[in-house]
Parts: sequence; structure tokens; C-alpha cells
Amino acid sequence: MGIRLVTTGASLRAQSRLLLTQKHGSSQGLVPTMGALHEGHAQLARTAVEQNDVVVASIFVNPLQFGEAADLERYPRTLEADMALLEEQGVDLVLAPSVDEMYPGGRPLVRITAGPLGEKWEGASRPGHFDGALTVVAKLLHLGIPGTGLPGNGAFVTGAGGGLPGYRAYFGQKDAQQLALVRRMVADLNFPVEIVAVPTVRSEDGLALSSRNRFLSGEEREAALVLSRSLRLIEDRANANEALDVESARALIESQPLVDLDYLEVVDPGTLEPLAENCRETPFRGEGLAIVAAKVGAVRLIDNVPLSS
Ligand code: AMP
Repeated sequence: MGIRLVTTGASLRAQSRLLLTQKHGSSQGLVPTMGALHEGHAQLARTAVEQNDVVVASIFVNPLQFGEAADLERYPRTLEADMALLEEQGVDLVLAPSVDEMYPGGRPLVRITAGPLGEKWEGASRPGHFDGALTVVAKLLHLGIPGTGLPGNGAFVTGAGGGLPGYRAYFGQKDAQQLALVRRMVADLNFPVEIVAVPTVRSEDGLALSSRNRFLSGEEREAALVLSRSLRLIEDRANANEALDVESARALIESQPLVDLDYLEVVDPGTLEPLAENCRETPFRGEGLAIVAAKVGAVRLIDNVPLSS
């Protein structure tokens, strides 16, 4: 059975219900994306296909999470190639709604507020970004609920087999702050979905794959490698139970003239608060997350590595 494209929540629910019945399925996975898909997204889709009977990917460039109109305008849109990539991974359904379908009355009056966790790091340089991102993720998580809902009114009935089908949604570790916020939203607001994190996919030289990498010149791409190298320095020290020496990792980035460092920090993976002294003067023990953001030419890049020892 080939991949199917739907553009409305009602048709998604109907198709999902049909597929779950046909496959005698008991679980559905959702992979939210903004399109311009690469191997990182493919990995999310593959993981979802391995773990669920029916898999839905969404492609929606969400105006609410863009600060500048120009940034939104130039976001790459490659639906045909995206569909081919998703079909190859075994995805069943693609939801690609229009902006009008998602926001019929214009910008929604009631939105999700990311709170203090959304104001630091990426939120500090992109005010309102995480409110917009969480608002669309909340909508997508509702639209992607396995097709046992009654079309139109959003109410639930139990599935054919009696119980509700399992429901999982897949997010990349690459966007660590977004992942932490989605986990908090789902826990704090009791969304009926399990969030699954997928490790960051990198190119062979270490650069984290991103839809924005296509905007880097050859020279800038080479320069951008200091980001993953600096994270590796910190990771190697954590693995050796040494003090993390964030300063020399920072100095490595600052030595690269094409790269303008915004932040490099080691934080708690849940609260994103800096892990102050523990990681500097004493051997590192426990769980952490090294996060970095920098502008390389005109392109803002982020990366991170989870630390554990
Ligand atoms: P985006 O289309 O950029 O909004 O990303 C959609 C999903 O793909 C998000 O959950 C991202 O974290 C995830 N993603 C993006 N790049 C990567 C990558 N290199 N490795 C793993 N997941 C990724």
C-alpha cells in the first residue's frame, strides 16, 4: 500500500481508522516535521515504523514559530521529495495541512505558553518561538490521535478491539530544548501520548543534519564543524570522569572567525539550568547536556550532546 497524502484533520482521522482496522493495528506513531526532510527526519520515521502499526508524518511550516516573515518565506518547501523519503521509510500517511486549515480564524487567540523553560537559550534569541512551536505541536498531537475519534467533534470512542490504540510521537534530540518542552507540556497537561526521543543524526564529519545546512557556503560548512568538535571535547571528558573544561571548548569555537558563538553550556537535561561547579572543578558524574548555538555566516545553528557517567 502506498503512502497517502491528507490535508485535513477529518481525513487524517478517517484514514487512520481505516488503516488501523485493515492492519488489525493497535498503535500509531506521529512524526511532526516542517518538511525539507533529510536523513535525521528519516531516522525518526524509521523508528516510528519499527515501533507502531500505523505511522503518520506531518509536514507543516508553522508561521507562529517564526520571528521574521523573511525567515518563514525562505524556509525550503520540497513536498514531492519529502513524500518519496517518507514512503521509503514505510510511513503510511502524510498530513500536510494549509495554514488556513491549521489556523482557520487567523492566529489563534488561545495558545500554549512555554513558561520560563521557553525563555532561556533558544528562547532568549527567538522570543515567542517556543510558544508558537508548542501551540502547533499541541494541535498536531491532537490531530494525530489514532483514528478512533468521531470525525468533526473530537470526542473519543474506544477502538475496534476494545481498548484505545497506543499512541507515540517522535522528536529529535537535535532540538533538545524543544524536546524538553514537549515532554513538560505532555506531562503537565496530561496529553495521552508517549514521547520518544531519537538521537541526533550527523554527517560523517560530525555536523548535525539540519534543514538550514543548505544555506551554508562550503567554507562556512567547514567552519561549522567546530560546534560538534567542541561538544566532543566535553563529551570525552565526561566519559573519562574528568572536569569538563567548558572554557577550552568555548575557546575552540571562538578561535574560528566565521563562527559567532551565542552560548556553550552544560545544563541539566530536564530543567536546562546550568550545572555550575559540578562540571568544572570536580570529575563529572551524573546526567548532563552540553548545548551550543552559534551563527555561522547568516545561519544560526544549534547542537548538543547528552552526557552521562
Ligand atoms: P524540523 O522539520 O526541523 O522541525 O524537525 C522535525 C523533527 O526532526 C524534530 O523533532 C527535530 O528534532 C528532528 N530532527 C531534525 N534534525 C535532526 C537530526 N539531525 N537528527 C535527529 N532528528 C532531527
